[in-house]
Amino acid sequence: MGLIVQKFGGTSVANRDRIFNVARIVADTRNAGNDVVVVVSAQGDTTDDLIAKAAEITHDPSKREMDMLLATGEQISVSLLAMALDSVGVPAISLTGWQAGFQTDRTYTNARIKRIDSERIESELARNRVVVVAGFQGLNRMEDITTLGRGGSDTSAVAIAAALHADRCQIYTDVEGVYTADPRYIKKARKLPEITFDEMLELATLGAQVLNNRSVELAKKYGVELEVLSSLNPMPGTIVKEVTSEMEGMLIKGVAKDTNVAVISIMEVPDVPGMSFKVFGALARKKINVDIILQSTGRGDNKDLIFTVPKNDAEIAVAVLKENQVRFGGGEIYVDKDVAKVSVVGAGMQSHSGVASRMFEALYENNINIRMISTSEIKISVIIKLDEADRAMAAIHDEFIQ
Ligand code: ADP
Ligand code: ASP
Ligand code: MG
Repeated sequence: MGLIVQKFGGTSVANRDRIFNVARIVADTRNAGNDVVVVVSAQGDTTDDLIAKAAEITHDPSKREMDMLLATGEQISVSLLAMALDSVGVPAISLTGWQAGFQTDRTYTNARIKRIDSERIESELARNRVVVVAGFQGLNRMEDITTLGRGGSDTSAVAIAAALHADRCQIYTDVEGVYTADPRYIKKARKLPEITFDEMLELATLGAQVLNNRSVELAKKYGVELEVLSSLNPMPGTIVKEVTSEMEGMLIKGVAKDTNVAVISIMEVPDVPGMSFKVFGALARKKINVDIILQSTGRGDNKDLIFTVPKNDAEIAVAVLKENQVRFGGGEIYVDKDVAKVSVVGAGMQSHSGVASRMFEALYENNINIRMISTSEIKISVIIKLDEADRAMAAIHDEFIQ
């Protein structure tokens, strides 16, 4: 008995049968005596289709109008699910993000939730209704619709669970939990019974899209334990929490791949103080996230600066750098989009040495060249050629996960 937040992703509500399947899960939860808040994503590929529709009109749409457009996807699924619940005898009401009280900052297409005024949700629950909330959307101070970035419905669900002090937050998806690698590509991937917030945050940030990274950040901040499980296959999923029991003592929890990466090189930058500041300052002003940075040691009076940015920001990054090229000594600028980042994640590497060398050996044995390396306490990432990424994932997974 309690309050349960259940989130269902796009595949889980893709068509009529899937919607009734979700209605059954929600009805069972409610019939067991719980209050239920449901968060849903847009059906199937709706969000991608909406993005494609905008691209038919213009290649540079206003972000405000993109949010107006994208938010429609979730409105379809909440209303259909509320109808399905009603028709199976469960009183339900659908709410848009703004009706549910989601207040965000003003960053269109990638807004952050500032707070949730949850009175409406609470009053509907008090009227004994299941509340079906549109994920991924909110309202900014100007009363414009905003969206939370791709995969943002996970964040909506965690935010509601935190605001309402829910007893459980279940993320239903199209796989049975969090695996040691994307089970669609790595057949030997294993389902993890549990994983820590920190490990999950790294995995999500490094490309495992099963959870949106901001949702994990929020779950950690507010201590919201998550359960990731399948809407199609009823069985225990993966628990994401602060501390795990580590019964299995796994050194590595997962391997992830990120293909949204490009490498930018600026050659022959003057080897004088302030150059890095000028280069990265120019990119920061355009809100471009720089990830791995390599700087060669000075050769004569020059050095090379090599770094990664998200692939979809690469064009803007190069344009900004070219505008400022004279300030960097006029050095040549190159961009390589034919790369991917492959990473291993595991808190176990904090206390065990040799993880990096085992990873590099697995790559060497498969004749895969490493362009760049970056490490933190619980992860090691390498930049390699895009077309070698799947082979690299499989080799590294074989090395660490039996
Ligand atoms: P939803 O629509 O339910 O939000 P997503 O497509 O966003 O679902 O996320 C689920 C997908 O994440 C899975 O279908 C799977 O291919 C992918 N995925 C990537 N890495 C992992 C992983 N380590 N464990 C489980 N799934 C993963
Ligand atoms: N519909 C949005 C997307 O496709 C949000 C989500 O699915 O979480 O990114
Ligand atoms: Mg998702």
